[in-house]
Amino acid sequence: MNGPFPASALPSSDFHAGLPRSHPHPAGFDYLVVGAGFAGAVMAERLASQRNRKVLVVDKRATLGGNAHDRHDDAGVLVHPYGPHIFHTNSADVFAYLSQFTAWRPYEHRVRASVDGQLLPMPINLDTVNRLYGLQLSSQELPAFFERHAEPCSPVRTSEDAVISQIGRDLYNKFFRGYTRKQWGLDPSELDASVTARVPTRTTRDDRYFTDTFQAMPLHGYTRMFERMLAHPNIKVMLNTDYREIQHLVPWRHMVYTGPIDDFFDHRHGRLPYRSLRFEHVTLPKQQHQDVGTINYPNEHAYTRVTEFKHLTGQEHRQTSLVYEYPQAEGEPYYPIPRPDNAALYRRYRDDAEQLAHVTFVGRLASYQYYNMDQVVAQALKTFRQLVAREDDAESGCATASEGSSARPADKVAQA
Ligand SMILES: Cc1cc2nc3c(=O)[nH]c(=O)nc-3n(C[C@H](O)[C@H](O)[C@H](O)COP(=O)(O)OP(=O)(O)OC[C@H]3O[C@@H](n4cnc5c(N)ncnc54)[C@H](O)[C@@H]3O)c2cc1C
Repeated sequence: MNGPFPASALPSSDFHAGLPRSHPHPAGFDYLVVGAGFAGAVMAERLASQRNRKVLVVDKRATLGGNAHDRHDDAGVLVHPYGPHIFHTNSADVFAYLSQFTAWRPYEHRVRASVDGQLLPMPINLDTVNRLYGLQLSSQELPAFFERHAEPCSPVRTSEDAVISQIGRDLYNKFFRGYTRKQWGLDPSELDASVTARVPTRTTRDDRYFTDTFQAMPLHGYTRMFERMLAHPNIKVMLNTDYREIQHLVPWRHMVYTGPIDDFFDHRHGRLPYRSLRFEHVTLPKQQHQDVGTINYPNEHAYTRVTEFKHLTGQEHRQTSLVYEYPQAEGEPYYPIPRPDNAALYRRYRDDAEQLAHVTFVGRLASYQYYNMDQVVAQALKTFRQLVAREDDAESGCATASEGSSARPADKVAQA
């Protein structure tokens, strides 16, 4: 890994020797990337390796990888400090891209829900229904069971509508209502239908949590993968640094911002609401604690779920480490709260962002959108392509306009 960033790493005067003539920059970085999570790391890696750009990545945390950061705890067990991260995608492009920086360990995640004294497959499948109600339905009979219990409603507006109209009130009460209330601090009747639409039901015995084509974990962990992505000689990394501390000290030409969009604009339209989590990490003196990676607790306890990391990582160790997740209102911004008024507030910030030619906003916090890791990688790869197309257009046709629109922050530094 590069960094922390030493003063001697500041570029010398022949800094731009390898760049096209239309990109003159006296000294400094072409790109200041704010955030060393997936969005920032992909953008930095592409700009450095595909465009030979000089990139400074800053993150206010002391660690790489954003929320996907992993590390060995005091017992030596590989854990995810910001909650369990399971990689899955249907995108061959995203998987191929990340495969340049990591080997993989095949892993299919399984989740059980603690309901009525049993640990039942989640998402709800044939075994869930049969075991819960003492039935012996076949796959062919299960759709009719759901239909008999479903309470059709039109239009489907809320999360409650979405679940009840598919599988009925009893399953909704046992599996979804309590979990959603804990997770969001809101009743499902107050949340967009999209929130629970993310958890499908199955008529088969398939008990995998995800059905994506590619399901695997980075063989040596996420942090190692990020180290490799950022190991390019054109990239410098500065941790423990809010970008505001250095944005006027270090010359740069264009910013890629992956932090919260409302924070960038000093919350001038008000704060975008987020749901947060408190993580309680526990290490136990035994090899294994639970049969599957995650157990959900929809109806008991203040925590929503417990994850045992060794299932995810495949690590052999005589001890085991778990994380308990306690949803809370305050703290790190984790889940954008999907309500129409929040989406409208976000659009005001997005409109402001579109006025800034020298800043590109990318990633889940900058988009105020719950994205999985693969979606963020896909978004960043697309954003990179758009950015270079704009650069190429500016280089070929209107270099003056390009310099005029993108050089403002660096000019500010030069004057400072
Ligand atoms: C509890 C939880 C579990 C999840 N599990 C999964 C999962 O199993 N599978 C999956 O695919 N996805 C999962 N996700 C989603 C995943 O975490 C995100 O898709 C991914 O981390 C987003 O990457 P990002 O780069 O957009 O944002 P982040 O990872 O949040 O990175 C943004 C970075 O910007 C930095 N930053 C912000 N402001 C500043 C500033 N002012 N100055 C400097 N740095 C700044 C932050 O410190 C952070 O490191 C989960 C998310 C959560 C919250």
